[in-house]
Amino acid sequence: MSVWAILVAAGRGERLGLDQPKAFVKLGEDPLLAEPLRRLDESDWIDRIVIVAPPGWEEPAILLAEELACSKVHSCVAGGATRTDSVRAGLFEVPDDAVVVLVHDAARPLLPEAVIERVLAPLQEGWDGVVPGLAVSDTLKRVGPDGGVAETIVRDALYAVQTPQAFPADVLRRALADGADATDCAGLVEASGGRVKVVEGDPQLLKVTTTDDLAKIASWL
Ligand code: C5P
Repeated sequence: MSVWAILVAAGRGERLGLDQPKAFVKLGEDPLLAEPLRRLDESDWIDRIVIVAPPGWEEPAILLAEELACSKVHSCVAGGATRTDSVRAGLFEVPDDAVVVLVHDAARPLLPEAVIERVLAPLQEGWDGVVPGLAVSDTLKRVGPDGGVAETIVRDALYAVQTPQAFPADVLRRALADGADATDCAGLVEASGGRVKVVEGDPQLLKVTTTDDLAKIASWL
């Protein structure tokens, strides 16, 4: 079975407050994008990779892939205004004979091989998608515009969902064709009636949003 990875790296990362897009801020010596790219390229489970870069940053992304001697990079395309648009642009590059597509946020650079394996395995049982998640340990409250608590949410069975997320290629194509939007691909598949399974995620898959996250991840490297 051929497994294609779409590495979405087209976010602007405004909350980092830096000049360059998030994928190109430094994590150690290299741009952030280098770490997840190298890990996908070295994975035993991944056959080909499509990089989705910020518009205008396709060439630096390809140069980085060459510098890292990545052998699986098929192409690099410009992303869109939303994450869903960026995934759509990446999926356009994936050929019809691809069986499985794994979508990963470049903003989660520390991608463990074991999580790739965990999200791919249940697809053989007929799931329409598999995502890694961590059980929520804090008490959750919905807060109104005045700062008052509107509701305390029972946290049993609540998960914070991460990437990589894996899908049969045809399922993801259909979900994206519906034109809906969601903050993750599983949300699109769920909206189109798909059954999505949650498997154990990994705290290392922390998403870089602030400079504190970046420092924390750098310390884990
Ligand atoms: O913005 P957010 O933190 O949800 O981004 C998650 C991932 O999606 C990041 O890796 C980011 O680069 C990517 N993204 C994208 N295109 C966008 C917005 C986000 O590729 N328009």
